[in-house]
Amino acid sequence: MPTSVIRPDILAQTAYAVADVPADFIKLDAMEVPYPLPENLRAELAAELAAAPINRYPNIAASPLPQLLRDTFAISEGAQIVLGNGSDEIIQFITLLVAQANASVLAVEPSFVMYRRNAELFGLNYIGVPLNPDFTLNLEATLHAIQQHKPALIFLAYPNNPTGVPFSREAVEAIIQAATGIVVIDEAYGAFSHDSFIAQAGQPENLVVMRTLSKIGFAGLRVGYAVGSPAVMGELAKIMPPYNMNQLSLAAAAFALRHAEAFMQNIETLKNERARVANALAELEDVTVFPSEANFVTVRLPDAPLAFHTLKDNKILVKNLHGAHPLLQNCLRLTIGTPEENDQVLRVLANVI
Ligand code: PMP
Repeated sequence: MPTSVIRPDILAQTAYAVADVPADFIKLDAMEVPYPLPENLRAELAAELAAAPINRYPNIAASPLPQLLRDTFAISEGAQIVLGNGSDEIIQFITLLVAQANASVLAVEPSFVMYRRNAELFGLNYIGVPLNPDFTLNLEATLHAIQQHKPALIFLAYPNNPTGVPFSREAVEAIIQAATGIVVIDEAYGAFSHDSFIAQAGQPENLVVMRTLSKIGFAGLRVGYAVGSPAVMGELAKIMPPYNMNQLSLAAAAFALRHAEAFMQNIETLKNERARVANALAELEDVTVFPSEANFVTVRLPDAPLAFHTLKDNKILVKNLHGAHPLLQNCLRLTIGTPEENDQVLRVLANVI
């Protein structure tokens, strides 16, 4: 059996579940932006893609994308950028960077599942430090775990997924100071937050800030990036697959950033909708709305599985967090959609609660 040569821990795993969503569903499970590329930009993009030299291997250094990222998101010239096929790929390779005997990876729990998945995949010890029940950082426990385990790598999503709750900047700074290994501040949802560490990326040398185009309208392109010191990014660059970014994604992402004003307006709309949805849900009896700085709102309901299935019966897919972690009991994560989509969610939830 060929499987006899495959690692038992992989044989025991279940694959990451990518939702298979019928076309007529309202899809609010994966923090995508609900707005497609505007009609007037499509022909222009098609022309640029048609001109992309897909017979040639891509060369990131020759692509305008890194400089466009610098200009659009105010990344300092001293910091180095590494592009990934989604930030998922960066998480994977940054974990590989520290994968050696007895090394450990630390993250808070609940947080983005890929931190743990990759740590375990590469045979590292994984240390999950529980958040407080209100999903704020338990700084004391986190600092204690850092002191005890001296993790080679710390992941902190800022804002956090699946909770949306922002951590205190002072607490994150204390963690950075206490760390002896690499600290990755994952700002996948940074565009929806009032705060960022991007200006500090690479200072100190072990501080890496990771971002993605996925949550600002381009999840299908698979473009993520890490920003950090040449000392760390130079090593990461060594182990990234040389042609990880394809010509079409490089071209389309550069095109998107040249038209940044078109999608930045969407971000503002979604932030306003987030406030509207949060306020409306807070009006419902027995519903706890956790404060969110991301493009989703996490709520605790009397019966989350029932609410999830009722939404599904109404052709709305959200994320049922119940069972994913003890702190997430009866929680749902609602990605913010268009005003019409959000109205549908509010209507169903008002009836089910
Ligand atoms: N970081 C966080 C915190 C996320 O929630 C996600 C996606 N859910 C990612 C990284 C990965 O994003 P992508 O691979 O699309 O860049």
